[in-house]
Amino acid sequence: MSLSMYRKDACVLISSGQGWPDANSRPGVSPPVDFGEMSIGYLVRRGNPRSTVFVIGKRSNYLVNNTDIEPFDPNSSGPRTDPKICLSCHRLKPLSEYPRNQNNRAGPITRPRCQQCYAAESGPSLSERAKREFRQAVGAPDKGDCWQCPICEKVSIADVTASIVVDHDQERRRPRGILCDSCNTGLGRFKNGEDHLQRAIDYLRNYEANQAEA
Ligand SMILES: [Zn+2]
Ligand SMILES: [Zn+2]
Repeated sequence: MSLSMYRKDACVLISSGQGWPDANSRPGVSPPVDFGEMSIGYLVRRGNPRSTVFVIGKRSNYLVNNTDIEPFDPNSSGPRTDPKICLSCHRLKPLSEYPRNQNNRAGPITRPRCQQCYAAESGPSLSERAKREFRQAVGAPDKGDCWQCPICEKVSIADVTASIVVDHDQERRRPRGILCDSCNTGLGRFKNGEDHLQRAIDYLRNYEANQAEA
């Protein structure tokens, strides 16, 4: 059994970015909807004159005119290729539409999400002033103080051996607590949501349970 949803040779580029949401719509009668030019999808069912395509950025199937579909090698896109595929909208976009992340040994690298998606998903950050006031209010450690992170429980020297950051609730735009940089990034990776964390815990427990049975 395979864990992948679709195989790489089913990958297609939909240049028009247009199609009809599902089999119940009336293609050719109702106008197509726009899911974004240069969208990447996977062929689900070949038909004529339209095929069913799973559009990744929308996480759903669309009927697309065959004339708008061309085979695409997903392995021709990578973190440094121009154009590259955005991790969120899964559209093929020129590198200039991606925010720069940082320089590493091999040169500058851009973020995995395009400007548009990055702005939509990261939300506004806290002002330096709000951070300062929060640090004061909760008695955050000064640089050089010995401190323990409430999540990883690592003991460190504040801002010397570990960076300390004000973690914030993106929805309410409010500071949530003081964490080490690594745990703060970790929460961000888990989308600051309990669903993701719970699934991660379930995944680990499930593995452990299977080990115990074996
Ligand atoms: Zn995007
Ligand atoms: Zn930590």
